[in-house]
Amino acid sequence: MSATFLGMPGNFPENSQKAVQDSQLRYNLRKATHTIRGKRADVVGELPDWAELRAAGKAIKDHTLRNLDRYLVQLERAVQDAGGTVHWARDAAEANRIVTGLVKATGEREVVKVKSMATQEIELNQALAAEGITAYETDLAELIVQLGDDFPSHILVPAIHRNRSEIREIFLEKMPETPAGLTDDPPALAEAARLHLRERFLRSKVAISGANFMVAETGTLVVLESEGNGRMCLTLPETLISVVGIEKLLPTWRDLEVFLQLLPRSSTGERMNPYTSMWTGAVEGQDFHLVLLDNGRTGVLADEVGRQALRCIRCSACLNVCPVYERAGGHAYGSVYPGPIGAILTPQLRGMGSELDASLPYASSLCGACYDVCPVAIDIPEVLVDLRAKAPHAAAEKAGMKVAGWILDDHRRLAAAQRLASKVRGLVPKKRLPGPMSAWTDTRDVPEIPEESFRDWWERNERA
Ligand code: SF4
Repeated sequence: MSATFLGMPGNFPENSQKAVQDSQLRYNLRKATHTIRGKRADVVGELPDWAELRAAGKAIKDHTLRNLDRYLVQLERAVQDAGGTVHWARDAAEANRIVTGLVKATGEREVVKVKSMATQEIELNQALAAEGITAYETDLAELIVQLGDDFPSHILVPAIHRNRSEIREIFLEKMPETPAGLTDDPPALAEAARLHLRERFLRSKVAISGANFMVAETGTLVVLESEGNGRMCLTLPETLISVVGIEKLLPTWRDLEVFLQLLPRSSTGERMNPYTSMWTGAVEGQDFHLVLLDNGRTGVLADEVGRQALRCIRCSACLNVCPVYERAGGHAYGSVYPGPIGAILTPQLRGMGSELDASLPYASSLCGACYDVCPVAIDIPEVLVDLRAKAPHAAAEKAGMKVAGWILDDHRRLAAAQRLASKVRGLVPKKRLPGPMSAWTDTRDVPEIPEESFRDWWERNERA
């Protein structure tokens, strides 16, 4: 069974501390993220109406989320009218049960997969493996991750942490048909993967996909991709099963037009993605099943501040500009959703019950670069601050914050506290605070307490 993110030990600070020691990883990440972010900036800069498009994307998503119940029912009817079958999954376990049941009913023991965040989120490959069904990832980067028994570390480029020679090693070890003389030239690596996958495309009778968008008025699903593997998976097999988060909905085709401009430019830095596949219900010779996945999304929807995370179209632009992601890499986040969006989405979807998930809202310097590039204007820093307030805190920290709040609430109390601090300034350590407060001074000096507060100085000089 391949690796699983769920139950990963540690917390973000520990994981990132280990990651920053890896200079090769930091080099790979910097090179890749800076290249993609440069391409994005160029193609976004070409559009004089980018700000209007972004506002439209945000407005459409907000409207859809406000009326999600209505649009989901509309979508269900449209898919059924077009010959498809719709299943509703409350959580990962239910979705996995539905999909494995559907595959088993076909009698097949293997499936091909189109890259899909939703199926990674529910760990579908592991659930299929437990039932004796082999899932073949067909996206090149996903294939590298799967063959390396590894975790994805980027939304768009899951194998961003691997370089060419590492990929060559993985192919030689895990793909028996690979010629021994394989070089680490990108075209040679791509050709080796193509040979490996082609046979699986042709023999597989079942495919599993996600979708970037679902159009409620027609029941159409939309997948955007660059390699053509998606088109093969969506069209060749006799049974197609799509697992899609309920927030991926758009009311109309007109709305889709906005997102077909926003997504490729923000994601791969292209004006248009090479392959856009759309299908409505079942086509001749193919059964179609749509599994609508909640898995915590309605809980996120109920949160006034946090619900904006459901606008996300998984473009990964926020990862490519994040100074924390660039140094820590994706694995430190312990989730299929790394980077700034992961720091707000994972704790909301999974709750903050584990040490790892409770540490994620702190995986940010709050610089705001993620908000600036987000094509649907998710105010990630706002959600991070809100989640930090909701995260579990030690009793001493809570008491300290309560006292600080009480002092800061009244200018007389603040002035008295400042005078007291000035009097005892000689007792405060210069470099490192004692006890549990030492963690705060591990990476910074203790700020010097002035002999006299600004308030007192002002009062003295005003009177003089
Ligand atoms: S939060 Fe915004 S920038 Fe980040 S992946 Fe989602 S849509 Fe893209």
